[in-house]
Amino acid sequence: MGPEAHNLEVFFFPFLAPGHMIPAVDMARLFASRGVKATVVTTRGNASLVQPAIDWANKSGRHMRLLLMPFPSSEAGLPEGCENVASVPAELQFKFMITSTPLLRDPLERLIREHQPDCIISDGFFPWTADVALGFGIPRIVFDGTNFFSNCVTHSLQYHAPSERLAEGETTFVVPGLPHRIELLKTQTPDMRAMPEAADFLRQLEESELRSFGMVVNSFYELEPEYADHYRNAMGRKAWHVGPVSLCREDTADEATRGAESSIDVADCLNWLDSKKPSSVLYVSFGSISLFTSVQLREIALALEASNLPFIWVVRDFGDSAGHEEEWLPEGFRNKVSENNSGLVIRGWAPQVLILNHGAVGAFVTHCGWNSCLEAISAGVPLVTWPLSGEQFYNERQMTEVLQIGTAVGAGAWTRRAEERELIKAEQIEKVVSRVIGGGEEAEGKRRKARELARRARRAMEEGGSSYSDMDRLIDELIEERRKIANQSVGDK
Ligand code: UDP
Repeated sequence: MGPEAHNLEVFFFPFLAPGHMIPAVDMARLFASRGVKATVVTTRGNASLVQPAIDWANKSGRHMRLLLMPFPSSEAGLPEGCENVASVPAELQFKFMITSTPLLRDPLERLIREHQPDCIISDGFFPWTADVALGFGIPRIVFDGTNFFSNCVTHSLQYHAPSERLAEGETTFVVPGLPHRIELLKTQTPDMRAMPEAADFLRQLEESELRSFGMVVNSFYELEPEYADHYRNAMGRKAWHVGPVSLCREDTADEATRGAESSIDVADCLNWLDSKKPSSVLYVSFGSISLFTSVQLREIALALEASNLPFIWVVRDFGDSAGHEEEWLPEGFRNKVSENNSGLVIRGWAPQVLILNHGAVGAFVTHCGWNSCLEAISAGVPLVTWPLSGEQFYNERQMTEVLQIGTAVGAGAWTRRAEERELIKAEQIEKVVSRVIGGGEEAEGKRRKARELARRARRAMEEGGSSYSDMDRLIDELIEERRKIANQSVGDK
């Protein structure tokens, strides 16, 4: 990387959801560590998710700043304070994504005009930023918070629509054209014919990606070499892998500030984990936006009771579904757990990366959001996979079949609505969990594989590692692009 990187300015403009903002901010930190001026652009209501990274930059002498814009709540027809998917009621989330966030275009353009960045790393969920970047003559790089594997699956399903060609009575299909044979249940993918607006939005994402400079991916080459190659070579897309970005965190205090403020005292949580045997604790969490019904929460509680395993269970404190504990916690659950010191129920936000990296954690029951999968991989923790929607069923296949570090709980239906979801019974959850965390050969084998991946993840992020080098390559290409643009504008005069 040449010294010019030091005056390269990159705007990071993540989608307004924790699962997009957290890795984007980590990525901005990584760029800042390499001498790039990294500017995170977001709305005022989301400032707290970014501020700790700015404090880190100030302390460590890096160039990082935060530019804020107002969120046009009334124009968007949303209640005041609904500036992040995590605080938008489920029925308004789609509207938030499709019709509200494009209202940020004018304020973004004002900031670009004023600060003249050399590049914008925009969330894929803001397809309109392709036109903004073209208008200003700067490269737009897409970041969508996913990985190579799920991008290859999404692309294949979008082009070949295999589920639409199933004969009467057929329930599964093989995803066409992938390096491995990946079979999915039709019900594990969204029915795009029933969601024309979503299908149209997906087309916009694809079209805007094709008009961009490339894509930056929170993954590492050694994790999914066939899919990184497939994406670049067979699909002909330009991409740089720069992850796992969560490994940018320097120590416990730094990790504790990642994302929202923890709902549990971090020291108490770590002390509790210290009191447990290595690889014995089950960590159960379903990301930042998914909800379950009270009935399903109760089955999870019963499974935890029956398993007799020490656990940390994170339950989102949002909406009606988890409002009244007495509706879903079996009688005496909290008392028993606290008398035996056998578990922590965290209502709200948990310091996930810290928990996963504690040696006492033996398995992670996850909805397979990409950040959660990659954070578990980086910590060497095997997974119990329980996908719900989004690209989570694809991630599940990658964890269970390709990488073989996950075991499926048996979720069969894609839906964003908790009340439409199939009920997974306590016995089923308990059976799978015991297999994964037990001392048998299957559990040991998965743990060994997960630890090996964690070692490779760290190596990828070290100087000379694959992700480190790809970030160098990206910075060099951006410097070169800036030079070309400057020469062109001289030539135009
Ligand atoms: N997260 C966290 N504490 C929580 C819930 C979530 O730190 O209590 C973080 C988690 O570590 C991850 C992100 O929020 O970085 C969630 O992203 P993911 O892709 O796993 O799922 P999503 O929330 O987007 O469905």
